[in-house]
Amino acid sequence: MKHPENDSQYTGLTVNSGVAQPPVVNPYLNRRPKRKQLPSTPELVEGILRGDVTMLSRAVTLVESLSDSHQAIAQEVIEKCLPHSGNSRRIGITGVPGAGKSTSIDVFGLHVLRQGGKLAVLAIDPSSERTKGSILGDKTRMEKLAVHPDAFIRPSPSAGSLGGVARKTRETIVLCEAAGYNNIFVETVGVGQSETAVHSMVDFFLLIQLAGTGDELQGIKRGIMEMADGIVINKADGDNIDRARLAQAQFRSALHLFPPTTSGWKPEVLTYSGYYELGIPEIWEMIDRYFEYVKSNGYFEQKRQQQARYWMYETIDSRLRSHFYRNPKIEGMLAEAEQKVLANQLSSFIAARNVLDSYFNDINPEKR
Ligand code: GDP
Repeated sequence: MKHPENDSQYTGLTVNSGVAQPPVVNPYLNRRPKRKQLPSTPELVEGILRGDVTMLSRAVTLVESLSDSHQAIAQEVIEKCLPHSGNSRRIGITGVPGAGKSTSIDVFGLHVLRQGGKLAVLAIDPSSERTKGSILGDKTRMEKLAVHPDAFIRPSPSAGSLGGVARKTRETIVLCEAAGYNNIFVETVGVGQSETAVHSMVDFFLLIQLAGTGDELQGIKRGIMEMADGIVINKADGDNIDRARLAQAQFRSALHLFPPTTSGWKPEVLTYSGYYELGIPEIWEMIDRYFEYVKSNGYFEQKRQQQARYWMYETIDSRLRSHFYRNPKIEGMLAEAEQKVLANQLSSFIAARNVLDSYFNDINPEKR
């Protein structure tokens, strides 16, 4: 290197060229492995089949994700898990807030786990989207199950419509079953539409009721009662026992007025106390009887097939909708058409036809 101090007359140390000043920004930054790298599809599938809870949780997170790339992985994982699913009792549990769902599920869950196997508790709570806080989301509501090694508790997926939320739960059931969970509880708030969604994915539908309001039968929607395979009246303890028995009698006679169920099963009405753990084995004996009954008359299989068909059409439906509504051109057209309809310049039907025509024309111009 050319430098005055490198001159032959200079007797001191030589000066080396040194190294270039490093850039201010670390160029390796992006190449560092991300802390939470996504496992590959085979890793997820293998982990789930091994019963690895971390892998199961991560796959469920992918199922719930709105990102297209996550969805693609999730669908692949589900497909691989599907042949290992189906081997469980799927039980829907509903009741209005305060009916004692969390207390009861904690107790029911422990009862079931004492017989062996594993339990997954999932939830469908459409309110979680609106309120940004899920009524059913809090794991700590089920204190004992939350720390049980054989229980997997997952709060309601929060994003999207009820249909979307329910579909995600339906897919999560597949993953849980593949991971060896042979008892699945799907919890929902007994206040509306979500029961129908839960009913479409469970084998047994349990309705938790309360006594003591005097007009028990008026508060519940007839539709929910019609779906129930079992009605259980909670808080039958202390001086509430008599009222619970009265409510039991009222529900029993109300059920007589309903048309017979497709399964041939006669829904039963029992009383219990989740808090004091009274009457719990009787509830599970009823559920055992139900499974024996529907498995022997073929209804169990038939219902699962119906449900599988329902979810196929439901998925097609939702994919078509989102393809339509997420089309940028359609979004613009819809906004404009809506204005015209509101201003009475265009009828709803013509507006709808115009938008749809444009959509179909775009996706298949030759055929039109
Ligand atoms: P959820 O909103 O349906 O999940 O209901 P929770 O399980 O949170 O219960 C609501 C309230 O009812 C809580 O204060 C519970 O302690 C109480 N509770 C639940 N089960 C029973 C029961 O069997 N007997 C009595 N007396 N109270 C109960």
